[in-house]
Amino acid sequence: MKNCTLCQERIADKLNSHIIPKFMCKRLFENSNPRHSIQLSKDGKQFKLQDVPKENNIFCKQCENRFEKLETYFSRVLIEINSLQNAVRKYEIELTDNQDVLSCNDITPSLFHLFFYSLLWRASISKHILFDTFKIGTEVQEELRIFLNENLFDTQKDLLLNAKTITKIPIYHTCFIKPKNNTRGIFSAYNFAPNAYAIYTVDYALFFYTKEDDCMPAHKLYGNISNEIIKVVLANDENWKVLNNSVVKNMLDYQTPR
Ligand SMILES: [Zn+2]
Repeated sequence: MKNCTLCQERIADKLNSHIIPKFMCKRLFENSNPRHSIQLSKDGKQFKLQDVPKENNIFCKQCENRFEKLETYFSRVLIEINSLQNAVRKYEIELTDNQDVLSCNDITPSLFHLFFYSLLWRASISKHILFDTFKIGTEVQEELRIFLNENLFDTQKDLLLNAKTITKIPIYHTCFIKPKNNTRGIFSAYNFAPNAYAIYTVDYALFFYTKEDDCMPAHKLYGNISNEIIKVVLANDENWKVLNNSVVKNMLDYQTPR
């Protein structure tokens, strides 16, 4: 058996590792009819998954547990953000250029980056067919691995304590977007332009840029970088549609490097 992809020290003995946490894509598997489609981008192929994508023997049990501690924490944070009423009570909504942005001043920025990068990194190292169209360059991928490996812990207490002391976060533009209203979204993950990456999980859209010059201006304006207060964009129906269309257009025009 090969070694764990995260720690690279222990045997990758864990079965059924989630690439994207269950709580982030569970709406895909609710018994609605028809179910959300899973979009395999590029050739426009779509299919329906029966379950959240899982993979065997990529992590050791200890590293899987470390991811779980981070996810348990963020499942609570995102439940709050999902309920706009709770979010408004807890966070400040700022209007920037006609766009509502949630200013999440009680989320430790380094913790948010751990979570965001853990999603991107796992999507990138995954061999699951869903993530075929999503590959971060090896150098950045390794930088994220080291950041995750050094800062994920076996207990939530240690995770939170350590997060307060992190001073070196890999610096990349990211943007976290939540549609204000429930959408009939898609699940997909792809490189949509040079140095530009997107993951749609039905409830959220995540953007990641490995070069500042390639970051869409709106994502630079509303997004996150480094140790600042975390922002979550609340897209209204119209913005969400424009966003989806522009990303899909870019993606169709762009050939993923192999
Ligand atoms: Zn491991």
